[in-house]
Amino acid sequence: MKPFVPTRVYFEEIVKEYAQGKELLDKYEKMNIPIIPIKAHHRIEELRKRPNKEFTKMKKYLILGTRKTVRLTPNDKSADFIVPFTSSGCTALCLYCYLVCHFNTNSYLRIFMNRDEMIEKVKKTIKKVGEHKVYELGCNSDMVLENTITGNLKWAIEEFGKLENATATFATKFDAVDDLLDAKHNGHTQMRISINPKEIINKVEFGTSSLKERLTAANKMFEAGYKIGLNIAPIILEKDFEIIYENMFKEVSNYLLPKLKSQLFIEVIFMTYGSANFYINGESMPKAINLLDKSKMRPKGPGKYTYRNEYRRPAEKIIKGYIEKYLPDATISYIV
Ligand code: SF4
Repeated sequence: MKPFVPTRVYFEEIVKEYAQGKELLDKYEKMNIPIIPIKAHHRIEELRKRPNKEFTKMKKYLILGTRKTVRLTPNDKSADFIVPFTSSGCTALCLYCYLVCHFNTNSYLRIFMNRDEMIEKVKKTIKKVGEHKVYELGCNSDMVLENTITGNLKWAIEEFGKLENATATFATKFDAVDDLLDAKHNGHTQMRISINPKEIINKVEFGTSSLKERLTAANKMFEAGYKIGLNIAPIILEKDFEIIYENMFKEVSNYLLPKLKSQLFIEVIFMTYGSANFYINGESMPKAINLLDKSKMRPKGPGKYTYRNEYRRPAEKIIKGYIEKYLPDATISYIV
């Protein structure tokens, strides 16, 4: 993947009090990138007022600040706890991105400097809970992407490597894992590589790594001793989805290392699409396909849509069948 070079950097003054913050500001200043002071990363008035059509332009900005509240949230899917970590937002432009439902056009990448505070919270929770638990890093961002700018994922992996009773987990759509291969993970981190058929990646997941690149990253991480999962997400019921998903499973089966496949765990997530996605995509990427198909979808909470049961149930059966056929040794962790 190409390194991310922001076209603008916004920063909170406090960022200068952190070594990492100073380094990043120096680096971007030397590159002659405009650097703009802000009061708070979540209240940048100038960006809040921009029209939807500027969304793709704003995704090229980088915001530096600190995370004000660090509260771990219990979870019952990919982890036991979600850890609000060192970033939120992302540089990519997946048409269904859940972050757009939370942050609208302001779902650009924000990086937070107070990583020590976050890991301290994790350590306190581990002590309090007293038994082995899984901690999800970066639920509101992609830590592999962030790591290319900060090295924070490698740092966190090594921190978890020193902890007892804790496994770190993260999901990614990016292949930039080389920096993580020699991290001292001590078997305490798992990676879930998020995949979709190449036809979907090409027309829906703009700015992410290709399927081949993601599978190569999974193989490399497995050889470096990490436990690997597949996050098949989101399943999109486009025309001929049976064919394109079957081809994807064939490719996955052929490409992943045999030993990796025997330890594989799989998460399957059907698409939820937001009306925020619909309006923002329509104005900022008018040539992109429209994923809101009301003939197949029903409302799921305010401003969100999901597939109706008559479409979803048979699709679920088909996907399960492909997993049994092409990845027979894998375990399905959950389907939602
Ligand atoms: S990679 Fe993840 S966070 Fe980034 S745009 Fe895509 S869905 Fe959103």
